[in-house]
Amino acid sequence: MKKEVVISSYSENLKGLFEINKNKYEVNGVIPGEKVLVDIDKKIKLINVLKKSDKRVKVNCPIYDLCGGCTLQHIDYKEQLNIKTKWLENLFLKAFNKHFNIPLVLGMKEPFNYRNKNQMVLKKEKNKLIGGMYQEGTHNVIDHNNCLIQDEVINKVEEQIKKLIIDFKYSIYDEDKKVGLFRHVLVKRSQATKEILVVLITTSLDFPGKNNFVKAITKLNKEITSIVQNVNNRKTSAVLGDKEVVLYGPGFIFDILLGKKFKITSKSFYQINSLQTEVLYSEAIKLADLKKTDTVLDAYAGVGTIGLIVANNVKKVLSVEIVKDAVKNGIDNAKYNKINNVVFVNDDATKYINNLAANNQKLDVIIMDPPRSGSTVDFLNAVKRIKPRKIVYVSCNPVTQVEDLKQLLSMYNIKHIQGVDMFPHTSHVENIVLLEIK
Ligand code: SAH
Repeated sequence: MKKEVVISSYSENLKGLFEINKNKYEVNGVIPGEKVLVDIDKKIKLINVLKKSDKRVKVNCPIYDLCGGCTLQHIDYKEQLNIKTKWLENLFLKAFNKHFNIPLVLGMKEPFNYRNKNQMVLKKEKNKLIGGMYQEGTHNVIDHNNCLIQDEVINKVEEQIKKLIIDFKYSIYDEDKKVGLFRHVLVKRSQATKEILVVLITTSLDFPGKNNFVKAITKLNKEITSIVQNVNNRKTSAVLGDKEVVLYGPGFIFDILLGKKFKITSKSFYQINSLQTEVLYSEAIKLADLKKTDTVLDAYAGVGTIGLIVANNVKKVLSVEIVKDAVKNGIDNAKYNKINNVVFVNDDATKYINNLAANNQKLDVIIMDPPRSGSTVDFLNAVKRIKPRKIVYVSCNPVTQVEDLKQLLSMYNIKHIQGVDMFPHTSHVENIVLLEIK
């Protein structure tokens, strides 16, 4: 059934809300104030915009409807930042029953081509090799290598490798029959060093013509400095398997953040928008207001980036991370940057901070950056026993962040809130909160 409706506001996940007979619905691709025609049969779908908002801009991505990644691409970028800022304001107002003055979310000057990593999924369809991304919520593959938020060089390399796979007549993994060689191609690129890492994800280690295939890839672009093969014969949709061999180069690339070098491997967690990561970290470090005498905990540290960046400004950093490989990368990163006052610990952050509290370890500042699920009550209770002067809480999911903050308010004040747009055109919001002891 088609219906004409007026969009009233944004929903909690930044879709457009409208009402029919007091029932609330949400739909993608619209802006509050717009009059639109929607199909409300099964999945609610936008058919047509009848009265356009002046915040609407032309969408240049041909697969915008299918992919489901850039749900805000139809909105003027400045307005996207306004929307994300208001979203944060509402979230904090609801959580704490108090209005916080939140400055505008920090955006990008050029909010396209920012992603430093992409995985191209491959599929044989009607005897033709296609490669690109999954259609939202499905396992249908969209044949597309021109993602607008992706590094343009990554797009190009992926398209070229797709052509090479066709030339070499390699078989493609069939998800239903569980047969075939090539599954994915993962490409990472540093805009700072220009180095490119190519990861070929296959179901078996050996395949015919491997040496020539690798040689052909190196000829595509001289900035491809590493090629790694990852063997994944699991029957699940996880991209990477455990076994890996380096086919060319050192097997990793370097990126530079705020003057420090970081090693990026196929598996290491690394922020996908390097330019904005510098903005995010600079803001977090500014708020932390560190002293040369400080001992700092970098909790949920990934490959140690934040801790290593602040290391020269403080006495000592304790860096805790649960993924063993990431910790190993962190230790290497410390060596590359000649930093020797960071202690890397491979542990669950909650377990580790409880040990610190039990041993009466003094911490002056905690910088924490947990995964989307947030931290734990146990972690936060240990923080309250240790009583650091400041806590800088960086979050990729402010919804869990506010829940965690509630645990700390008996002892800490929220001094500053600052969002950073790490993922322009998507509905994701990254947020930093500074807490100071009462
Ligand atoms: N601060 C880093 C990483 C942030 S992502 C950066 O900016 O790059 C969150 C990190 O928390 C991931 O590396 C993840 O592996 C780690 N993590 C998840 N659960 C954890 C836990 N219970 N204890 C310690 N680290 C954890």
